[in-house]
Amino acid sequence: MPVPLIATTKPIATISTLLASMRRLDKEQWLGPDELAERRRGRLRRVIARAAGTPYYGAVLRDAGIADPQTFEPGDLERMPLLDRQVIARHGLEAFLTEDRAGLVGVSTSGSTGTPGRFFRSTVEEADYSARWWRVYQAYGCGSRDGQINVGILDKPDRPGPISLLRRLGMLPRVERVASDVPPAKALERVQALNPPILTGYAGAIEALADHVLATGAQVRPPRAVFCTAMEVTDRCLELAERAFHAPAVDVFVTNEFGVVAWSCPVRRGVLHTNDDSFVIEVLAADGSPAPAGEMGELVITSLGLTSMPLIRYRTGDMAARIPGACECGRGLGLLTRVQGRTAHTFRRRDGALITTPYITSLLGRVDAHEWVRKFQVREAPGRQLRFLLDVRRPPSPAQHHRLRHSVETALGADFQVEFEFVDRIPNAPSGKLQYLVPLAS
Ligand SMILES: [Zn+2]
Repeated sequence: MPVPLIATTKPIATISTLLASMRRLDKEQWLGPDELAERRRGRLRRVIARAAGTPYYGAVLRDAGIADPQTFEPGDLERMPLLDRQVIARHGLEAFLTEDRAGLVGVSTSGSTGTPGRFFRSTVEEADYSARWWRVYQAYGCGSRDGQINVGILDKPDRPGPISLLRRLGMLPRVERVASDVPPAKALERVQALNPPILTGYAGAIEALADHVLATGAQVRPPRAVFCTAMEVTDRCLELAERAFHAPAVDVFVTNEFGVVAWSCPVRRGVLHTNDDSFVIEVLAADGSPAPAGEMGELVITSLGLTSMPLIRYRTGDMAARIPGACECGRGLGLLTRVQGRTAHTFRRRDGALITTPYITSLLGRVDAHEWVRKFQVREAPGRQLRFLLDVRRPPSPAQHHRLRHSVETALGADFQVEFEFVDRIPNAPSGKLQYLVPLAS
Protein backbone atom coordinates (compact mmCIF):
# COMPACT_ATOMS: atom_id res chain seq x y z
CA MET A 1 0.00 0.00 0.00
CA PRO A 2 1.46 3.40 -0.87
CA VAL A 3 2.26 5.58 2.10
CA PRO A 4 -0.40 8.34 2.27
CA LEU A 5 2.03 11.09 3.22
CA ILE A 6 -0.18 13.81 1.82
CA ALA A 7 -3.08 12.73 4.02
CA THR A 8 -1.04 13.29 7.15
CA THR A 9 -1.07 16.89 8.27
CA LYS A 10 2.20 18.52 9.18
CA PRO A 11 4.18 15.24 9.35
CA ILE A 12 7.57 16.84 9.95
CA ALA A 13 6.24 19.11 12.69
CA THR A 14 4.52 16.26 14.49
CA ILE A 15 7.55 13.94 14.32
CA SER A 16 9.84 16.63 15.66
CA THR A 17 7.26 17.35 18.39
CA LEU A 18 7.24 13.66 19.23
CA LEU A 19 11.03 13.58 19.59
CA ALA A 20 11.03 16.79 21.62
CA SER A 21 8.24 15.45 23.86
CA MET A 22 10.14 12.20 24.40
CA ARG A 23 13.28 14.09 25.44
CA ARG A 24 11.32 16.43 27.69
CA LEU A 25 9.40 13.61 29.40
CA ASP A 26 12.59 11.63 29.85
CA LYS A 27 14.17 14.57 31.73
CA GLU A 28 11.16 15.86 33.63
CA GLN A 29 10.41 12.63 35.49
CA TRP A 30 13.65 13.17 37.46
CA LEU A 31 12.91 16.79 38.44
CA GLY A 32 12.11 17.53 42.06
CA PRO A 33 8.49 18.16 43.10
CA ASP A 34 9.04 21.95 43.35
CA GLU A 35 10.46 22.27 39.85
CA LEU A 36 7.66 20.07 38.52
CA ALA A 37 5.07 22.22 40.30
CA GLU A 38 6.57 25.34 38.70
CA ARG A 39 6.29 23.84 35.20
CA ARG A 40 2.78 22.62 35.96
CA ARG A 41 1.74 26.14 36.93
CA GLY A 42 3.10 27.63 33.69
CA ARG A 43 1.41 24.99 31.54
CA LEU A 44 -1.86 25.33 33.41
CA ARG A 45 -1.91 29.09 32.77
CA ARG A 46 -1.35 28.47 29.06
CA VAL A 47 -4.27 25.99 28.98
CA ILE A 48 -6.54 28.35 30.94
CA ALA A 49 -5.66 31.22 28.60
CA ARG A 50 -6.63 29.15 25.55
CA ALA A 51 -9.73 27.74 27.22
CA ALA A 52 -10.95 31.24 28.13
CA GLY A 53 -11.72 31.80 24.44
CA THR A 54 -14.29 29.00 24.25
CA PRO A 55 -17.97 29.53 25.06
CA TYR A 56 -18.05 26.89 27.82
CA TYR A 57 -14.83 27.72 29.69
CA GLY A 58 -15.23 31.44 29.06
CA ALA A 59 -18.52 31.37 30.98
CA VAL A 60 -17.13 29.07 33.67
CA LEU A 61 -14.14 31.35 34.30
CA ARG A 62 -16.37 34.45 34.41
CA ASP A 63 -18.70 32.73 36.90
CA ALA A 64 -15.71 31.77 39.06
CA GLY A 65 -14.47 35.37 39.01
CA ILE A 66 -11.23 34.43 37.28
CA ALA A 67 -10.28 37.31 35.01
CA ASP A 68 -6.57 36.88 34.34
CA PRO A 69 -5.25 33.42 33.32
CA GLN A 70 -1.70 34.65 33.96
CA THR A 71 -2.32 34.74 37.70
CA PHE A 72 -4.17 31.40 37.76
CA GLU A 73 -2.94 29.01 40.46
CA PRO A 74 -3.57 25.22 40.55
CA GLY A 75 -5.68 25.78 43.68
CA ASP A 76 -8.04 27.95 41.61
CA LEU A 77 -9.19 24.81 39.82
CA GLU A 78 -11.40 24.09 42.82
CA ARG A 79 -13.47 27.15 41.90
CA MET A 80 -14.35 25.58 38.54
CA PRO A 81 -17.08 22.95 38.11
CA LEU A 82 -16.36 19.33 37.30
CA LEU A 83 -16.63 18.22 33.70
CA ASP A 84 -17.95 14.93 32.34
CA ARG A 85 -19.36 13.52 29.11
CA GLN A 86 -22.89 14.63 29.99
CA VAL A 87 -21.76 18.22 30.45
CA ILE A 88 -19.94 18.10 27.11
CA ALA A 89 -23.01 16.61 25.40
CA ARG A 90 -25.26 19.26 26.93
CA HIS A 91 -23.15 22.18 25.71
CA GLY A 92 -22.11 20.61 22.39
CA LEU A 93 -18.55 19.93 21.27
CA GLU A 94 -18.14 23.32 19.60
CA ALA A 95 -18.41 25.01 22.99
CA PHE A 96 -15.09 23.37 23.97
CA LEU A 97 -12.96 23.74 20.83
CA THR A 98 -10.34 26.43 20.40
CA GLU A 99 -9.75 25.61 16.73
CA ASP A 100 -11.61 24.29 13.71
CA ARG A 101 -12.38 20.64 14.16
CA ALA A 102 -11.53 19.95 10.52
CA GLY A 103 -7.83 20.08 11.40
CA LEU A 104 -8.19 17.87 14.48
CA VAL A 105 -8.18 14.13 15.15
CA GLY A 106 -11.43 12.70 16.55
CA VAL A 107 -11.20 10.25 19.44
CA SER A 108 -14.24 8.21 20.44
CA THR A 109 -14.52 6.44 23.75
CA SER A 110 -16.27 3.17 24.25
CA GLY A 111 -19.01 4.35 26.55
CA SER A 112 -18.63 1.34 28.83
CA THR A 113 -20.11 3.47 31.60
CA GLY A 114 -23.07 4.78 29.65
CA THR A 115 -22.51 7.84 27.50
CA PRO A 116 -20.00 7.35 24.68
CA GLY A 117 -17.65 10.30 24.41
CA ARG A 118 -16.17 12.18 21.50
CA PHE A 119 -13.07 14.32 21.85
CA PHE A 120 -10.70 16.17 19.57
CA ARG A 121 -7.01 16.79 19.62
CA SER A 122 -4.35 17.96 17.20
CA THR A 123 -1.69 15.68 15.72
CA VAL A 124 0.87 17.63 17.76
CA GLU A 125 -1.06 16.81 20.93
CA GLU A 126 -1.25 13.22 19.73
CA ALA A 127 2.58 13.22 19.68
CA ASP A 128 2.61 13.98 23.39
CA TYR A 129 0.19 11.10 23.95
CA SER A 130 2.61 8.72 22.21
CA ALA A 131 5.63 10.13 24.03
CA ARG A 132 4.03 9.33 27.38
CA TRP A 133 3.68 5.71 26.30
CA TRP A 134 7.39 5.70 25.46
CA ARG A 135 8.24 7.01 28.91
CA VAL A 136 6.69 3.81 30.32
CA TYR A 137 8.32 1.54 27.73
CA GLN A 138 11.74 3.09 28.37
CA ALA A 139 11.41 2.72 32.14
CA TYR A 140 11.20 -1.02 31.48
CA GLY A 141 14.12 -1.19 29.08
CA CYS A 142 12.13 -1.20 25.83
CA GLY A 143 13.44 0.56 22.72
CA SER A 144 11.79 2.11 19.71
CA ARG A 145 12.81 -0.80 17.45
CA ASP A 146 11.07 -3.36 19.65
CA GLY A 147 8.20 -5.25 18.06
CA GLN A 148 4.91 -5.25 19.87
CA ILE A 149 1.75 -7.31 20.21
CA ASN A 150 -1.33 -5.53 21.49
CA VAL A 151 -4.22 -7.66 22.74
CA GLY A 152 -7.19 -5.33 22.51
CA ILE A 153 -9.75 -4.18 20.02
CA LEU A 154 -8.93 -5.20 16.45
CA ASP A 155 -10.86 -2.66 14.46
CA LYS A 156 -9.64 0.40 16.34
CA PRO A 157 -8.18 2.53 13.56
CA ASP A 158 -4.67 3.92 13.83
CA ARG A 159 -4.96 7.58 14.67
CA PRO A 160 -3.00 9.80 12.31
CA GLY A 161 -0.29 10.71 14.79
CA PRO A 162 3.47 10.63 14.26
CA ILE A 163 3.92 7.10 15.61
CA SER A 164 1.52 5.59 13.08
CA LEU A 165 3.23 7.61 10.35
CA LEU A 166 6.64 6.25 11.38
CA ARG A 167 5.19 2.74 11.45
CA ARG A 168 3.73 3.16 7.95
CA LEU A 169 7.09 4.41 6.73
CA GLY A 170 8.72 1.28 8.15
CA MET A 171 10.86 3.35 10.55
CA LEU A 172 9.18 1.70 13.52
CA PRO A 173 7.95 -1.90 13.68
CA ARG A 174 4.25 -2.45 13.18
CA VAL A 175 2.02 -3.26 16.13
CA GLU A 176 0.45 -6.68 15.75
CA ARG A 177 -3.09 -6.59 17.03
CA VAL A 178 -4.87 -9.59 18.51
CA ALA A 179 -8.55 -9.31 19.45
CA SER A 180 -9.11 -9.51 23.19
CA ASP A 181 -11.89 -12.06 22.74
CA VAL A 182 -10.03 -14.64 20.60
CA PRO A 183 -9.41 -17.94 22.42
CA PRO A 184 -6.15 -17.71 24.44
CA ALA A 185 -4.67 -20.57 22.37
CA LYS A 186 -4.95 -18.42 19.23
CA ALA A 187 -3.42 -15.39 20.93
CA LEU A 188 -0.58 -17.59 22.18
CA GLU A 189 0.12 -18.77 18.61
CA ARG A 190 0.66 -15.17 17.55
CA VAL A 191 2.89 -14.44 20.54
CA GLN A 192 5.00 -17.56 19.91
CA ALA A 193 5.29 -16.77 16.21
CA LEU A 194 6.46 -13.19 16.79
CA ASN A 195 8.18 -13.28 20.18
CA PRO A 196 7.58 -9.55 20.69
CA PRO A 197 9.80 -7.69 23.18
CA ILE A 198 6.70 -5.66 24.13
CA LEU A 199 3.50 -7.42 25.08
CA THR A 200 0.66 -5.10 25.88
CA GLY A 201 -3.11 -5.38 26.17
CA TYR A 202 -6.30 -5.22 28.15
CA ALA A 203 -5.66 -6.66 31.58
CA GLY A 204 -8.43 -9.26 31.27
CA ALA A 205 -7.05 -10.54 27.96
CA ILE A 206 -3.45 -10.63 29.26
CA GLU A 207 -4.68 -12.50 32.32
CA ALA A 208 -6.49 -15.11 30.20
CA LEU A 209 -3.42 -15.51 28.01
CA ALA A 210 -1.07 -15.88 30.99
CA ASP A 211 -3.45 -18.35 32.57
CA HIS A 212 -3.43 -20.41 29.38
CA VAL A 213 0.40 -20.37 29.20
CA LEU A 214 0.65 -21.64 32.78
CA ALA A 215 -2.08 -24.26 32.36
CA THR A 216 -0.53 -25.73 29.19
CA GLY A 217 3.12 -25.29 30.15
CA ALA A 218 3.67 -23.52 26.81
CA GLN A 219 7.10 -22.01 26.24
CA VAL A 220 7.27 -18.31 25.44
CA ARG A 221 10.42 -16.28 24.98
CA PRO A 222 10.20 -13.66 27.74
CA PRO A 223 9.30 -10.15 26.52
CA ARG A 224 11.06 -7.22 28.19
CA ALA A 225 7.85 -6.45 30.04
CA VAL A 226 4.09 -7.05 29.91
CA PHE A 227 1.97 -3.88 29.96
CA CYS A 228 -1.57 -4.32 31.32
CA THR A 229 -3.98 -1.51 30.54
CA ALA A 230 -7.40 -0.06 30.10
CA MET A 231 -9.36 -1.44 33.03
CA GLU A 232 -8.84 -2.26 36.66
CA VAL A 233 -5.66 -4.33 36.69
CA THR A 234 -5.96 -6.94 39.42
CA ASP A 235 -3.12 -8.33 41.55
CA ARG A 236 -3.87 -11.69 40.04
CA CYS A 237 -3.39 -10.39 36.49
CA LEU A 238 0.08 -9.02 37.34
CA GLU A 239 1.07 -12.12 39.26
CA LEU A 240 0.00 -14.51 36.48
CA ALA A 241 1.64 -12.40 33.77
CA GLU A 242 4.97 -12.39 35.63
CA ARG A 243 4.86 -16.15 36.21
CA ALA A 244 3.79 -16.98 32.66
CA PHE A 245 6.10 -14.62 30.77
CA HIS A 246 9.06 -14.36 33.18
CA ALA A 247 9.00 -10.59 32.78
CA PRO A 248 7.86 -7.62 34.87
CA ALA A 249 4.13 -6.97 34.59
CA VAL A 250 3.34 -3.27 34.47
CA ASP A 251 0.05 -1.64 35.43
CA VAL A 252 -0.58 1.29 33.06
CA PHE A 253 -3.53 3.54 33.87
CA VAL A 254 -4.51 4.92 30.49
CA THR A 255 -7.72 6.56 29.31
CA ASN A 256 -8.90 7.41 25.81
CA GLU A 257 -9.25 11.06 26.80
CA PHE A 258 -5.79 11.55 28.31
CA GLY A 259 -3.55 8.64 27.30
CA VAL A 260 -1.17 7.36 29.96
CA VAL A 261 -1.97 9.02 33.27
CA ALA A 262 -0.04 6.79 35.71
CA TRP A 263 2.11 3.65 35.57
CA SER A 264 3.88 1.15 37.84
CA CYS A 265 7.18 2.37 39.28
CA PRO A 266 9.93 -0.02 38.13
CA VAL A 267 11.46 0.02 41.64
CA ARG A 268 8.49 0.28 43.99
CA ARG A 269 6.37 -2.12 42.02
CA GLY A 270 3.06 -1.97 43.85
CA VAL A 271 2.43 1.74 43.26
CA LEU A 272 1.90 4.04 40.29
CA HIS A 273 3.75 7.20 39.30
CA THR A 274 1.48 10.01 38.11
CA ASN A 275 2.53 11.99 35.04
CA ASP A 276 2.56 15.24 36.98
CA ASP A 277 4.29 17.14 34.18
CA SER A 278 1.33 16.45 31.89
CA PHE A 279 -1.67 16.64 34.23
CA VAL A 280 -3.09 18.15 37.36
CA ILE A 281 -4.58 15.10 39.07
CA GLU A 282 -7.10 15.63 41.86
CA VAL A 283 -8.42 12.84 44.07
CA LEU A 284 -11.90 13.85 45.24
CA ALA A 285 -14.10 12.41 47.97
CA ALA A 286 -17.76 11.68 47.21
CA ASP A 287 -18.74 15.21 48.35
CA GLY A 288 -16.31 16.78 45.88
CA SER A 289 -13.74 17.85 48.48
CA PRO A 290 -10.09 16.78 48.11
CA ALA A 291 -9.55 13.31 49.59
CA PRO A 292 -6.69 13.23 52.11
CA ALA A 293 -3.60 11.20 51.11
CA GLY A 294 -4.24 7.51 51.66
CA GLU A 295 -7.97 7.82 51.13
CA MET A 296 -9.61 6.58 47.99
CA GLY A 297 -11.47 9.04 45.80
CA GLU A 298 -12.38 9.72 42.21
CA LEU A 299 -9.57 10.83 39.89
CA VAL A 300 -10.37 14.20 38.32
CA ILE A 301 -7.87 15.27 35.69
CA THR A 302 -6.85 18.49 33.99
CA SER A 303 -4.65 18.06 30.93
CA LEU A 304 -1.71 20.46 30.68
CA GLY A 305 -1.11 19.59 27.03
CA LEU A 306 -4.56 19.66 25.42
CA THR A 307 -5.34 23.14 24.14
CA SER A 308 -7.34 22.34 21.00
CA MET A 309 -10.07 20.90 23.22
CA PRO A 310 -9.05 21.67 26.80
CA LEU A 311 -10.20 19.14 29.38
CA ILE A 312 -10.30 20.86 32.76
CA ARG A 313 -11.42 19.01 35.89
CA TYR A 314 -12.63 16.03 33.89
CA ARG A 315 -14.16 13.20 35.91
CA THR A 316 -12.59 9.87 34.96
CA GLY A 317 -14.88 7.73 37.10
CA ASP A 318 -11.79 5.81 38.27
CA MET A 319 -10.81 5.51 41.91
CA ALA A 320 -7.43 5.53 43.61
CA ALA A 321 -5.66 7.12 46.59
CA ARG A 322 -2.63 9.39 46.74
CA ILE A 323 0.45 8.08 48.48
CA PRO A 324 2.47 10.77 50.29
CA GLY A 325 6.24 11.08 50.16
CA ALA A 326 9.01 10.61 47.63
CA CYS A 327 9.85 7.43 45.74
CA GLU A 328 13.11 5.57 46.21
CA CYS A 329 13.55 5.31 42.42
CA GLY A 330 14.46 9.02 42.40
CA ARG A 331 11.61 10.22 40.21
CA GLY A 332 9.91 13.40 41.32
CA LEU A 333 6.56 12.23 39.94
CA GLY A 334 3.86 11.74 42.57
CA LEU A 335 2.60 8.39 43.79
CA LEU A 336 -0.82 6.82 43.55
CA THR A 337 -2.25 3.46 44.55
CA ARG A 338 -3.21 1.21 41.69
CA VAL A 339 -6.65 2.11 40.35
CA GLN A 340 -9.27 0.38 42.49
CA GLY A 341 -11.99 0.15 39.88
CA ARG A 342 -14.50 2.56 38.48
CA THR A 343 -17.02 4.45 40.54
CA ALA A 344 -19.68 3.15 38.13
CA HIS A 345 -18.53 -0.48 38.56
CA THR A 346 -18.99 -0.88 42.28
CA PHE A 347 -21.65 -2.03 44.72
CA ARG A 348 -22.68 -0.18 47.83
CA ARG A 349 -23.21 -1.76 51.20
CA ARG A 350 -26.23 -0.70 53.25
CA ASP A 351 -24.07 1.91 55.00
CA GLY A 352 -22.90 3.30 51.65
CA ALA A 353 -19.39 1.78 51.74
CA LEU A 354 -18.07 0.80 48.32
CA ILE A 355 -17.31 -2.72 47.21
CA THR A 356 -14.70 -2.70 44.43
CA THR A 357 -13.23 -5.24 42.03
CA PRO A 358 -9.96 -5.71 43.98
CA TYR A 359 -12.01 -6.44 47.07
CA ILE A 360 -14.01 -9.16 45.31
CA THR A 361 -10.89 -10.72 43.75
CA SER A 362 -9.35 -10.81 47.22
CA LEU A 363 -12.36 -12.84 48.45
CA LEU A 364 -11.66 -15.37 45.69
CA GLY A 365 -7.91 -15.21 46.23
CA ARG A 366 -7.94 -15.89 49.95
CA VAL A 367 -9.53 -19.34 49.37
CA ASP A 368 -7.47 -20.06 46.20
CA ALA A 369 -10.65 -20.16 44.13
CA HIS A 370 -8.66 -19.13 41.04
CA GLU A 371 -7.44 -22.74 40.91
CA TRP A 372 -10.84 -23.68 39.55
CA VAL A 373 -12.46 -20.34 38.56
CA ARG A 374 -11.23 -19.13 35.18
CA LYS A 375 -13.30 -15.97 34.98
CA PHE A 376 -15.97 -14.37 37.10
CA GLN A 377 -18.50 -11.58 36.98
CA VAL A 378 -20.76 -10.36 39.78
CA ARG A 379 -24.13 -8.92 38.82
CA GLU A 380 -26.33 -7.02 41.20
CA ALA A 381 -30.01 -7.96 41.06
CA PRO A 382 -33.03 -6.20 42.61
CA GLY A 383 -33.63 -6.87 46.30
CA ARG A 384 -29.97 -6.64 47.34
CA GLN A 385 -28.85 -9.78 45.56
CA LEU A 386 -25.47 -10.51 44.03
CA ARG A 387 -25.17 -13.20 41.38
CA PHE A 388 -21.64 -14.58 41.07
CA LEU A 389 -21.26 -15.96 37.53
CA LEU A 390 -18.38 -18.43 37.45
CA ASP A 391 -16.73 -19.70 34.30
CA VAL A 392 -14.81 -22.67 35.71
CA ARG A 393 -11.82 -24.66 34.49
CA ARG A 394 -13.21 -27.73 36.26
CA PRO A 395 -16.04 -28.31 38.70
CA PRO A 396 -14.92 -27.53 42.26
CA SER A 397 -14.87 -30.18 44.96
CA PRO A 398 -17.65 -29.74 47.53
CA ALA A 399 -15.02 -28.43 49.98
CA GLN A 400 -13.72 -25.84 47.48
CA HIS A 401 -17.24 -24.69 46.69
CA HIS A 402 -18.02 -24.40 50.38
CA ARG A 403 -14.86 -22.39 51.09
CA LEU A 404 -15.70 -19.85 48.40
CA ARG A 405 -19.30 -19.53 49.56
CA HIS A 406 -18.12 -19.09 53.14
CA SER A 407 -15.51 -16.45 52.14
CA VAL A 408 -18.05 -14.44 50.17
CA GLU A 409 -20.94 -14.75 52.61
CA THR A 410 -18.80 -13.82 55.59
CA ALA A 411 -17.71 -10.65 53.81
CA LEU A 412 -20.96 -9.66 52.08
CA GLY A 413 -23.75 -11.65 53.74
CA ALA A 414 -24.87 -8.81 56.00
CA ASP A 415 -25.58 -6.61 52.98
CA PHE A 416 -26.44 -8.98 50.14
CA GLN A 417 -28.01 -12.31 49.42
CA VAL A 418 -25.41 -14.18 47.37
CA GLU A 419 -25.95 -16.75 44.65
CA PHE A 420 -23.42 -18.70 42.60
CA GLU A 421 -24.06 -19.78 39.03
CA PHE A 422 -21.81 -21.80 36.77
CA VAL A 423 -21.82 -20.51 33.21
CA ASP A 424 -20.08 -21.55 29.99
CA ARG A 425 -18.95 -18.12 28.97
CA ILE A 426 -18.82 -14.59 30.32
CA PRO A 427 -18.89 -12.18 27.40
CA ASN A 428 -16.73 -9.06 27.31
CA ALA A 429 -18.42 -5.67 27.21
CA PRO A 430 -18.69 -4.11 23.70
CA SER A 431 -15.50 -2.19 24.55
CA GLY A 432 -13.59 -5.52 24.47
CA LYS A 433 -13.04 -5.42 28.24
CA LEU A 434 -14.42 -7.68 30.91
CA GLN A 435 -16.51 -5.81 33.46
CA TYR A 436 -16.11 -7.72 36.73
CA LEU A 437 -18.81 -5.94 38.71
CA VAL A 438 -22.13 -5.00 37.13
CA PRO A 439 -24.26 -2.88 39.49
CA LEU A 440 -27.97 -2.29 39.00
CA ALA A 441 -28.53 0.55 36.56
CA SER A 442 -28.85 3.62 38.75
ZN1 LIG B 1 9.43 5.30 41.68
